[in-house]
Amino acid sequence: MDYIEIEDLEIYAKHGVLSAENQLGQKFLVSAKLYADTAKAGLTDCLDYSIDYSIVCAYITEYMQAHTFKLIEAAAENMVNDLLLSFPLIKKIDLTIKKPWAPIGLPLKTVSVNISRGWHTAYIALGSNLGDKESYLNDAISAINSDNMCMVDKVSDFIITKPYGDVEQDNFLNGAIKIQTLYSPNMLLEFLQKLEHDAKRVRTVHWGPRTLDLDIIFYDDMIIDEDNLIVPHPDMTNRDFVLTPLNQIAPHHMHPIFMKSVGELHASLLSRN
Ligand code: ATP
Ligand code: CA
Ligand code: CA
Repeated sequence: MDYIEIEDLEIYAKHGVLSAENQLGQKFLVSAKLYADTAKAGLTDCLDYSIDYSIVCAYITEYMQAHTFKLIEAAAENMVNDLLLSFPLIKKIDLTIKKPWAPIGLPLKTVSVNISRGWHTAYIALGSNLGDKESYLNDAISAINSDNMCMVDKVSDFIITKPYGDVEQDNFLNGAIKIQTLYSPNMLLEFLQKLEHDAKRVRTVHWGPRTLDLDIIFYDDMIIDEDNLIVPHPDMTNRDFVLTPLNQIAPHHMHPIFMKSVGELHASLLSRN
């Protein structure tokens, strides 16, 4: 992807673990690669279609001086989030903060922190089979969209489905959404679990009745196999209640393991049933 690069922007600020650093301040050098599509700005020669790096430089300077963090890790993490939220054309940022005067009593050129953060695309399956099911799903979608780390791009229709597994229970209402998010996969899972908790979901039986179930189906093209998070969702290819709404909003999205589109996975499930 195209990028605009700012190198070694010099800022006098007061981050540091030592109180002397917080009082006297010192020099920091900030570099940033701002990833964005610059083709339209290039073809039209119009700044409206690009990122005004003078504004970004002023923003970084002001941010570094308005806050005092103990760690440059924290300065980088917080500032990069703010930049991504404030400049919607920026899709990803590689940020470096160098501390050339780090007070360690030994000669060094600089010490630095380098991070890369950006917007990710995730697909989430939603389900409810207790109480006002439609409100639970709509409220969850509103809460996701209201969180400043997420934007909801697409929402499927909701469909009524028969319960999965052997537990006797009411029908489900299911849907799927496409979102853009700044959360890492684990942070996204934690956020979705908080929404389930807020919906007063009480865990009783596995695959039993619940007010709200939010599963991460895809996160970019990532393949994740951790104790508490498996992505793509391992059972999605067997679930009509996931594939039908997903097929409505993302028929061409590729499954990164099976290398088949959602449309193909849906058709093959229908032909098996
Ligand atoms: P299933 O995952 O088969 O649909 P379920 O949704 O009823 O079952 P839950 O009780 O909601 O299961 O979740 C159990 C655990 O699954 C969660 O605590 C979570 O850590 C883990 N998990 C693993 N992969 C995912 C994923 N892709 N999305 C959401 N939760 C996941
Ligand atoms: Ca589930
Ligand atoms: Ca779940």
